[in-house]
Amino acid sequence: TAPIPAGPARVDIDLPAIAHNTEILAAKAPDAEVMAVVKADGYGHGAPAVARTALEAGATSLGVTTLAEAVALRQVGISAPILAWLYSAGDDVSGVIGAGIDIAVPSPEHLDAVVAGARKSGMRARVTPKLDTGLGRSGIMPLHWERTFDRLVAAEREGIIEVTGLMAHFANADAPGDPVIDSQVTALHEAVEQARSMGLECPRNHHSNSAGTLTRGSDGFEIVRPGIALYGLSPIEGEDFGLRPAMTFSAEVLMVKDVNEGQGISYGHSWIAPRDTVVALVAAGYADGVWRLLSNNFDVQLRGGRYAQVGRVCMDQFVVELGPRTASGAVPGGIRAGDRAVMFGDPARGAPHAGDWADKLGTIHYEVVCAARGRAARYVH
Ligand code: PLP
Repeated sequence: TAPIPAGPARVDIDLPAIAHNTEILAAKAPDAEVMAVVKADGYGHGAPAVARTALEAGATSLGVTTLAEAVALRQVGISAPILAWLYSAGDDVSGVIGAGIDIAVPSPEHLDAVVAGARKSGMRARVTPKLDTGLGRSGIMPLHWERTFDRLVAAEREGIIEVTGLMAHFANADAPGDPVIDSQVTALHEAVEQARSMGLECPRNHHSNSAGTLTRGSDGFEIVRPGIALYGLSPIEGEDFGLRPAMTFSAEVLMVKDVNEGQGISYGHSWIAPRDTVVALVAAGYADGVWRLLSNNFDVQLRGGRYAQVGRVCMDQFVVELGPRTASGAVPGGIRAGDRAVMFGDPARGAPHAGDWADKLGTIHYEVVCAARGRAARYVH
């Protein structure tokens, strides 16, 4: 049978950029190991390829959210330590323990689940108590730390649990200087000291996400746990730390055509051609991750130039204004069907930045890269 064309919208992932970003993060915390956070399918970049690349570039373990994400990485043959931190205290975790996944314990009830799972699986569970040092989200509250450590000491003695270390998560690390950051770090150091004094070895503890790693290193802990910076996006406003965005989101120009002054463009005619001009139809829409909210409000890169998107973004396509024909009658920029319009990518190559979309959408670039793609094909290089 003849090959079926993959579709005109695509996300390209630059794995050498992931390797470069991993090295930058490792250099920021030379005294610590890097746990590469590849949750949510590697922030939309593809978890298995990102995981392998980060591990080859120096990361020593992986962090994910759900137990299923962790097991999926094992199933594609990744043998490095993988920590998963979000699940229900009612889950049967014995199979996950059997698959050699490290499990966070974010509440006393979750410890019940892990103890039951370890007994059922007959294997020693590797656990990381997740403490709430001030984030106010998941994590064991300070009131329960001592009692939890007590239970863990007993479980280690029984041989059903091994505590790999303690973890916590920052609330405001993207706002360097915020006093909550120091208070969270101090709280985790005190917790480690307390746990060790009670008999838990806690060899590998961690607090730093990307913002923490880039601005403060490991803060004296043994592991850093960055996510977004691996993908080349800086969590700190105005500083790029030499990171390279790894995702390029682009789509093909399907046709180029002339429209007359006064022609309304796309549903609702939210843009009316102010002059005789040339437009290009680009084959990506909100089903591919181009937000309809961005209608009439973003640029694409085409043949090295920047052109404004005009009219409503539709489910499958949007329109770009190229401008009036030149004096010799040529289409501006020589744009033609088959050209690739870059919605965002690496600004060093002239592309718009995912952060430009985030600013316009009133969100953060994390959400932009996780949402990009939809139906669009992903190519990993
Ligand atoms: N650790 C935990 C527990 C997280 O939930 C996340 C992501 O939100 C990270 C680390 C990585 O954070 P970032 O992507 O800001 O580096």
